[in-house]
Amino acid sequence: MQAGKLGTRIGGGHAGVQQPHLLKQPAGGRPASSRPRLNSRRGAVVVRAADYYSLLGVSRNADKKQIKQAYRQAARKYHPDVNRDPGAEDKFKEIGQAYEALSDDNKRAIYDRYGEAGLKGGMGGMGGMGGMGGMGADFSNPFDLFESFFGGGMGGMGGMGGMGSRTRNRATTGEDDRYDLQLDFLEAVFGCAKEIDVDRLASCSTCSGSGAKAGTSASSCPQCGGAGQVVSAVRTPLGMFQQVATCPRCEGTGQIFTPCDTCGGDGRVRESKRISLKVPAGVDSGSRLRVRAEGNAGKRGGEPGDLYVYITVKDHPELRRDGISIHSDVEISYVDAILGTQVKVTTVDGPVELKIPSGTQPGTTLLMAKRGVPRLGNSASRGDHQVHVRVRIPKSISSDERKLVEQLKEMQSKAKFGPFSF
Ligand SMILES: [Zn+2]
Ligand SMILES: [Zn+2]
Repeated sequence: MQAGKLGTRIGGGHAGVQQPHLLKQPAGGRPASSRPRLNSRRGAVVVRAADYYSLLGVSRNADKKQIKQAYRQAARKYHPDVNRDPGAEDKFKEIGQAYEALSDDNKRAIYDRYGEAGLKGGMGGMGGMGGMGGMGADFSNPFDLFESFFGGGMGGMGGMGGMGSRTRNRATTGEDDRYDLQLDFLEAVFGCAKEIDVDRLASCSTCSGSGAKAGTSASSCPQCGGAGQVVSAVRTPLGMFQQVATCPRCEGTGQIFTPCDTCGGDGRVRESKRISLKVPAGVDSGSRLRVRAEGNAGKRGGEPGDLYVYITVKDHPELRRDGISIHSDVEISYVDAILGTQVKVTTVDGPVELKIPSGTQPGTTLLMAKRGVPRLGNSASRGDHQVHVRVRIPKSISSDERKLVEQLKEMQSKAKFGPFSF
């Protein structure tokens, strides 16, 4: 038996007894690794990146489609509902700003020329804003300062003719949903199949998601005249500016309709759905499973969001887990430590006989190869089970035992001068 020889693994051992590997032999006290570390893999620090292109992870000549795709990906990743890292929310907002600027040809042109300051109104007199007709973007934030300047810089409403190109009845992707799932220790180790009931917004079957009452048809919104946007004049220190905002009456669709009785016009209803979930082997507390398209339904034919299942794992009475390693303790008598013994160890595979070699020191860690947790995503690879050996020294002994131990002591003191010693 070699201490620290971790390269060789002995699988089952012979005669059904697992032969241990000696991991380490601390001088005494509690073994260093007897307590699983807290999962410290999360908590990545988000670095503030000023450049909109690098924020979205696209090149400077990316087209609109690529930008949109990159935005969706990044927004999903950093959405505060799904990402609880500190800084995720800020990042999410920055990504939104970046997308708002880069998805609009005009804003993008300004950004490319003047950087972020250009978009924040620091352009010094708006002189460079000529030729900005044909707004194709869909402005949703009425208080966006840039919008105010933009309107003003355009010399009244002259350049607004292009507004008709704004998408109507735009489909919106449904919100992602969250479900918290608690697993038993072994369910997390080996994976399991689960049925979960998820309460989420589903497309309304009465109106097929349109939100309109059956037999009625939509008509042009009287407040915005069907444009979906309303323009108001705002007085600022720099003068009067036009402000464009999404029409509050029709929410930008340009149309009003008699709302469906079932869903109240939203096109979606809250509904419980049973989802069969396959939990892979090796998940742990903090793992997150994504179930595609099982989040909330989209609006007006938009794609549904995703469902995120957050996992927590219950403790086991005897086993502790640290990543793919399992730890447990075994207590033996000092006599067994001297003579060696065989003990039954609870493992994730059930009870396994483990040989404790003679002369085992207190605090020894014995390794049971491949009795740990399957690696997430590669369950053929498994961690090990580390058994921490505690040696029990009796606090009181019988007079017969005392006699024997005293004999031992006598033997030991004689042995000091002989060829044998402990
Ligand atoms: Zn309207
Ligand atoms: Zn409906």
